Amino acid sequence: MTYRSETSSIPAIVLADGQIMPKLGFGVYKVAGDEAVSTIVTALELGYRSIDTAAFYGNEDAVGRAVRESGLPRDEVFVTTKLWNADHGYDAALRAFDASLQRLGLDRIDLFLIHWPVPSADLYVDTFRALQALKRQGRVVSIGVSNFDREHLERVIDETGETPAINQIELHPYFAQSELRAFHAAHGIVTEAWSPLGRGAEFNDSVIIALADKLNRTPAQVILRWHMQLGNVAIPKSMTPARMAENLAVFDFELTGREMTQIAGIDKGARQGGDPAEFAMDAPTA
Ligand code: NAD
Repeated sequence: MTYRSETSSIPAIVLADGQIMPKLGFGVYKVAGDEAVSTIVTALELGYRSIDTAAFYGNEDAVGRAVRESGLPRDEVFVTTKLWNADHGYDAALRAFDASLQRLGLDRIDLFLIHWPVPSADLYVDTFRALQALKRQGRVVSIGVSNFDREHLERVIDETGETPAINQIELHPYFAQSELRAFHAAHGIVTEAWSPLGRGAEFNDSVIIALADKLNRTPAQVILRWHMQLGNVAIPKSMTPARMAENLAVFDFELTGREMTQIAGIDKGARQGGDPAEFAMDAPTA
């Protein structure tokens, strides 16, 4: 199955709520300034049909402009944004959503995520209830979370009765998250990988290089293919058109079971970003 588009053919995944999402999207963290709109338009011209932004990235306006400037029908582009840590709590989350929608200049968002659980504020369950309300109103199609550990997911599921459609987490070969992925699979939660390329950390790994040489692919393509075969959604970021195209060209080759196992063997449990149990930048203090 591919994403609904006349002009692109990216394989798609079905979320538990029935919405169809491209398996590969374009991440726009630090895609900023004057170049932001043209970079995102280029991504859409190259065939990307999913854009991952966040209130925190400061570029929701550029994403909205790029979607409009691309000339693509709105329903051919899947737009994700995220609620920032300062906006946890039911009412604050509703207000933050309105502000995101306004900056994007869109009338609905395809996927809205809670960016971090911020356990110290202990407001993520109420925040998720606000996302449920937005979904009921039809202003967001799918709702999910990001950087949630198993215990945070369990509380949301137990206390709201709804399972997030997606958990977007740090995931690359050196941080393969096999336990959390298994929990997701058991609960019908799609795993979305952020920093899917480990920000380049694995490009010099001998196992990745050997596979890239053998398959006549780049290290980035081998890693993204690994994500695809694990069933992950991945959202690599690049500002370079040739690399943006390279990262999309991962649907015409396959890794064998043995090659997948070889990549599994380089997992070091090495996180690059924040630890969800502690990360609380800009958290509400009251
Ligand atoms: P990434 O793993 O996508 O790596 C990006 C870097 O790798 C780029 O800066 C580029 O220099 C390099 N690169 C990309 N393609 C390449 C190629 N083909 N060859 C050589 N180098 C290449 O890391 P990221 O940007 O941190 O993550 C991607 C997206 O994930 C972000 O843009 C954002 O949308 C999302 N994200 C989410 C969170 C979260 O907390 N939810 C955190 C970080 C990132």
